[in-house]
Amino acid sequence: RADQVMQWIYRRGKDSFDDMSNLSKDLRTRLAQYFMIRTPELVAEQVSQDGTRKWVLRLDGGNAIETVYIPEENRATLCISSQVGCAMDCSFCSTGQQGLNRNMSTAEIIAQVWFAARTLGGDFQNERVISNIVFMGMGEPLANYNAVVPAIRILLDDFGFGLSKRRVTVSTSGLVPFMDRLREEVDTALAVSLHAPNDELRNQLVPINRKYPIADLLDACRRYAAGKDRKTHIVYEYVMLDGVNDHPEHARQLAKLLGGMPAKVNLIPFNPFPGAPYQRSKPETIAAFVKILRDRK
Ligand code: SF4
Repeated sequence: RADQVMQWIYRRGKDSFDDMSNLSKDLRTRLAQYFMIRTPELVAEQVSQDGTRKWVLRLDGGNAIETVYIPEENRATLCISSQVGCAMDCSFCSTGQQGLNRNMSTAEIIAQVWFAARTLGGDFQNERVISNIVFMGMGEPLANYNAVVPAIRILLDDFGFGLSKRRVTVSTSGLVPFMDRLREEVDTALAVSLHAPNDELRNQLVPINRKYPIADLLDACRRYAAGKDRKTHIVYEYVMLDGVNDHPEHARQLAKLLGGMPAKVNLIPFNPFPGAPYQRSKPETIAAFVKILRDRK
């Protein structure tokens, strides 16, 4: 019965127990007595020229979170939030500046995917309007581990959204103990917010580095990558901040740091926000940085 209910909700997008025609009337009545199926309330939508859509959704209690849909040629990625705000206090991040308001529940995390699939007019069975999920919205997902892991299980479950484990990516600022738990408990792709190639600089940009410095973080990455059936490379995110972490020497340090590991580096031009203490790196600086990394493979 549980499998049937899951299929109705996640595969067919139904929000009424009455529609679940293969369940008995009695069961449908009892389900409706105890549970509700509904989306968070849409507060605002922004659509970009390239088709990217950002939704601001209101949760119970009035907090708002963001969910972003990014369509590309061969895939469509949904970037979801896991916390209202974030306690990690990364100095380049708008969410970090607002601090942590609260953790999101598993239902609230999953509701973003369900909302997006329904809004985009597809389902997860025949027409996959969303091919990839990334936990890169608001919050540090591993700081809300107990809600995030069940959400991942629903994303991967055949009776849930049925996504392949390579298509679900958890992005972390480096909570080492939880990276190890994640490796043991659920199989997903991993992205790491590195942003600096040495501890002195990373302590400023990603303060959690003071607790779990780069050497410990990369050891955890090696353990994660060595786990069973993980052929995809870990992605290292690196925000490009003008004059801060974008010198050629930083690129050389970064290449040395990741040398010998299966790694993919994602250089992200900084997206300024009001009051941000940084500027975006110049295109030619980013190009030079890329070249140094490429030359070192
Ligand atoms: Fe922002 Fe992510 Fe850092 Fe949190 S962990 S402050 S959401 S960059």
